[in-house]
Parts: sequence; C-alpha cells; structure tokens
Amino acid sequence: MGVKDKPPGSRSRLISNILFLIAGLFLFSNLFFPQLFGNPIPQVPYSMFIDQVEDGNVTRASVGQNEIIYELKEETAEEAKILRTNPIFDLELPKRLEANGVEFAAASPPKNGWIGNILSWVIPPLIFVAIWQFFISRSAGGAQGALSLTKSKAKVYVEGDSTKVTFNDVAGVEEAKAELTEIVEFLKTPERYKAIGARIPKGVLLVGPPGTGKTLMAKAVAGEAGVTFFSISGSEFVELFVGAGAARVRDLFEQAKQKAPCIVFIDELDAIGKSRSGGNGFVGGNDEREQTLNQLLTEMDGFAAGDSTVIVLAATNRPETLDPALLRPGRFDRQVLVDRPDLSGRQKILEIYAAKVKLDVEVNLKQVATRTPGFAGADLANLVNEAALLAARNKRDTVTQADFNEAIERVVAGLEKKSRVLSDKEKKIVAYHEVGHALVGAVMPGGGRVAKISIVPRGMAALGYTLQMPTEDRFLLSEAELKDQIATMLGGRAAEEIVFNSITTGASNDLQRATDLAERMVTTYGMSKVLGPLAYEKGQQNNFLGQGMGNPRRMVSDETAKAIDEEVKSIVETGHQQALDILKLNRDLLEQIAQEILEVEVIEGEKLQSLLNQAKPIENHTQESETILA
Ligand code: ADP
Ligand code: MG
Ligand code: ZN
Repeated sequence: MGVKDKPPGSRSRLISNILFLIAGLFLFSNLFFPQLFGNPIPQVPYSMFIDQVEDGNVTRASVGQNEIIYELKEETAEEAKILRTNPIFDLELPKRLEANGVEFAAASPPKNGWIGNILSWVIPPLIFVAIWQFFISRSAGGAQGALSLTKSKAKVYVEGDSTKVTFNDVAGVEEAKAELTEIVEFLKTPERYKAIGARIPKGVLLVGPPGTGKTLMAKAVAGEAGVTFFSISGSEFVELFVGAGAARVRDLFEQAKQKAPCIVFIDELDAIGKSRSGGNGFVGGNDEREQTLNQLLTEMDGFAAGDSTVIVLAATNRPETLDPALLRPGRFDRQVLVDRPDLSGRQKILEIYAAKVKLDVEVNLKQVATRTPGFAGADLANLVNEAALLAARNKRDTVTQADFNEAIERVVAGLEKKSRVLSDKEKKIVAYHEVGHALVGAVMPGGGRVAKISIVPRGMAALGYTLQMPTEDRFLLSEAELKDQIATMLGGRAAEEIVFNSITTGASNDLQRATDLAERMVTTYGMSKVLGPLAYEKGQQNNFLGQGMGNPRRMVSDETAKAIDEEVKSIVETGHQQALDILKLNRDLLEQIAQEILEVEVIEGEKLQSLLNQAKPIENHTQESETILA
C-alpha cells in the first residue's frame, strides 16, 4: 500500500540539530575543561600560597576577587613558576604580602573571559529554544516538523494495490455487505444514479463492537469499486493545537476531491463527533474537537453541489455518543450495523483464515465455530493464528483440532476478562430467556411480530435479543397493546423462573422498561380505572441541561401517590402472571425452541414463524375494546 507523506520539515530539524550541538558542546566543555574558558595556570590551595608568602618565595601577586595569580622566585619554583589560588576572605592579606616583600596589585579582568561571558549569556536561551523545538517536532508526529503541523496524515490506499481487499475477505456480516454493495454501485457508476436524479448518499456510518470488521469492510468497499481509499483515525484529528484538526480535515477533503470518485474513511468517529451538549458540561467544552467537527460538517455539506463523488465512511462503536448533527440527512444518514457473527458467520470467517494455514484433514471448523460464541472477526483471525503458532511450536506440519481447542482456551481466557464470552450455563439461561420473550410476544402480539431471536451477544451489554417488528407504522397504541408489551418484556424473566426456578440479573433492563411503561400508562396516558383520566406527570420539559432528569410529577396527595404505586404494581404483576401462564401452557414448545437456538444461535424468518405459530393462546387474554391514546 502506498503511504503518502508530505516532505518532512527538514529545515526546522536542521536548525534544532545545530542548536543542540552548540548547547551540548558548551555544557560538555564547561563541565570537563573549565580552563578552556578560564585560566590554564595550575591551582594550589590557599594555605600553600600563604606558606609560600611567609617563606618569602613569592615575588609578585595579582589579587583578584575570585583568584590570586602569583609568581614564585626562580630558585624555589619546581615545575611551574606561575600559580593560582582561590582567595578566602582575608583582610590581613595586603599586610602579609607587604611584610614579605611581595610586589602586588589588583587583578585586571581576565583576557579571554569575555568570550565565556557572552557565551554564558547566549547559550542558555538557545538551550531552551532547542528543547522547545524538540518537543514541537515530537508532538507533530515524528518525521513531520513544526512547520507541517496542519498537513493531513491520511493514509492512502490506491487502486490496484497488491493488498487489495474485497468482499471475499469479509464474512459473517452479510447484511452489512448487502447494504454496502449499493455504495459500491454508486462509486462505480455514479452517472446512472445522477441521470435519474437520485442523490448519492454522502456518509455511511458503520456501527459495531470492536474487531467485527468495520475497517476491513470500508477497505473492501474501496477495493470492490476500485477507487482510492483515504483513511484517517478520529483520534489523529485531536491535536495539541487548536485549529490543527480543522485544517487537517480541510486538507484531507482537498486531496479527496482531486481523486474523486473515492472513499474517505474516518475511523473512531466518536473521538471528534461526541455530542456537544453532553460530556463535560455546557461551559467551555473542547474547542479543538468542536472546530474539527464543524469543519467536517462543512466539508460534507460542501461537496453536495459539485459533481465529484466522495463518499465518507466512518466507523464507531459508540454511536450513542455521537452528535446528532452528524446523523442528519445529507451527512451520515445511513447507518450500517456490523455485528458479531453468528454460528454460520463464524464458520465462514474461520474458513477464510484457515485457508491461509495448513490444516489437518480431521479439523472440523464447524465445531470450532460452535465453541466460540461471542467471538468477533478479529478474535477468530487471532484464534487461527494462535492455533498455527501452537502447531509450529510442537513441530507439527499441520494444524490439528487439538491445536484449535487449546487456542480457543487461550483466546477465551483473554476475552473473559473483557466479559464477552458466556459459559455454557449462561448461554442456556440466555436461550430460555429470549425464547420466553418470543413466545409471550407471539401470543400477545401488541408489541409487533417477533422477527428474530438471537443469543449472539450484541452491542456492549445485551447478551441476547428478541427482535419485534411492528406490522405497520404505529403512532397510536391501545391499552391492550401496551399490556401485551409489558407481558412480553416480562417473558424473559418468567421463562427463567419456570425453567431454572431462579432468576438472574439479566432481566433487570426488562423490568426497568416494563415498570416505566406501566407508570406512563397510569400517570401520563390516564389508563387506570382507579386514578381516572388525569395526567399526573408534568409534560415534557425542555430543560437546558437536557438528559438525566425524569419528568417531575405534579403535586399529588399521599393517597394519590400510593394509589399510583399500587396501580403500576398491579399492571406489572398482571403482565408477569400472563407471561407465566403462557409459558407454562407452552412449556414443551419453550423447550423445543430453546434447544434449537442453542444449536444455531439465531432463528428468524419462516422457520421462526412456523415454530411460534404452534404456541397456544391463554384463555383470559381477550382483546379489550381498543382505547386509543396519543
Ligand atoms: P474494527 O474496525 O471493526 O474494529 P477491523 O476491521 O479492524 O475491526 O478488524 C480487525 C481484523 O480482524 C481485520 O483486519 C480482519 O483480519 C479480522 N476481521 C474482523 N472482522 C472480520 C470479518 N467479518 N471477516 C473477516 N475478517 C475479519
Ligand atoms: Mg477499526
Ligand atoms: Zn430480556
């Protein structure tokens, strides 16, 4: 891959090198050869000088403030005739010299002292300058000196690289691939879309946990389309100097427009695109990041008019922190989920990487995939490599199943610290929990049709999930539908109770949501027969600080507050009981689907529908007369 670099700031480097040299020489010589700048005359202790004076051996002396230089009588001098000493404060000295017949005078300033003097004035500031230069050139990123701070450091991968990545190198993320295939089409034949008047999307945001192949997918899009790929990481924009990040964005897009059609890939978008209102309060904030973000938005809005096709891909694993301004139409209005792969996806990824090592014939990659739930693509690539290393260490020619098994243990140990891998027991609990949601949802379909059950850990927190799709666009929901939703939310916990006779912490989010919904039914929608059609909650308030505070309740009497609590409790408990009834009635089906999902991890589509259609409804669930609410 061609990495394009601007010429380094060689001039400033030269200057700082020379400054360093001078400063170094000065320090060195002053420390080790003080005579160079002072006097080459041998030095003796003051007491010895006094002795020589008392003995009458000294002929002449020049007395300075810091130094006495004196001459010995010819016959007594052993080697050197002229000596020097450092005086101590001695008022008797003139008398003593006179008494011993020494010719003496005050010293004239040393002859070559002025050079040392000047140097000692000039050099220290130079040292500071040199050190400053050194740090600047370091912080600007190694080879690039202080003069080239604002240049974009985007790496450029040009079409036809030997390292060209295509969709064949990415597996297990089929939905994301399908969505991005369209982007490839845009890049290949923009004319076709423009002719018909369609607006080509400008920004696509790849969202997913680390290591799932977001960067790889972005490269593959460029590879498939055969266009230039500019890549830069969000954290590289955040610089020491305010304004540098913004200049970098400008420069990057300048380059990109010249190479259009092309892809600009911004990794770790959250580093610059953090929500401006959130974070560290509303005063101050991070000026640098904000400027960079604004520049990015300006650039993205800017190339609308022109006819150059620049598509900005960005990746993040924290989409919830992004500034809403980034997600508006015309910016990153498309979001593609790149999630951890399911069983068959893992097998395909393993096949890609296993093709690069020598495999033993008996290796069963499906079995490896089965044992690695929760692994992301990067973990699987690492796993294959780890297995190959083990084989090599044991001096085997091929990688065996045993190597894989040992490698799994190693990689799992690392991942467990990041709590990404479930034990078999946990996996089983998650399976029953999710099937519980799905079955209750199938019998009480107020929350929509159950479209997918998965026990592949998703996002950062969820261990598994059940996806419900509304059958149509809904703006109004009836009381019965809300009650269905509450029962469905409690289905997970109900399943755990029935099957394991115990409950885990996994249901806490479900309980939170169910309780919230019940409370809203009572206090906002006026759906309680006991409390009547009153709104006990004050309307949505747009408070300046935004998130964090719930809606305050209207002032209510103690009895009303108690009645609200009781109503909420009764709604949630009714839902819970309904969920329990449904699951007990369909105990066998629960078992069957749970076993099935433990096997394949994801069930969706027709297969799921045919399973859920077998669910028997409970008798006391009658569709109540529809109460419409806003
Ligand atoms: P992300 O950007 O999502 O954190 P990367 O794209 O940097 O992840 O993935 C790191 C490496 O892991 C890739 O270079 C590739 O070798 C491997 N990898 C990750 N996901 C996949 C996948 N879906 N298919 C094939 N390889 C993958
Ligand atoms: Mg990445
Ligand atoms: Zn749940």
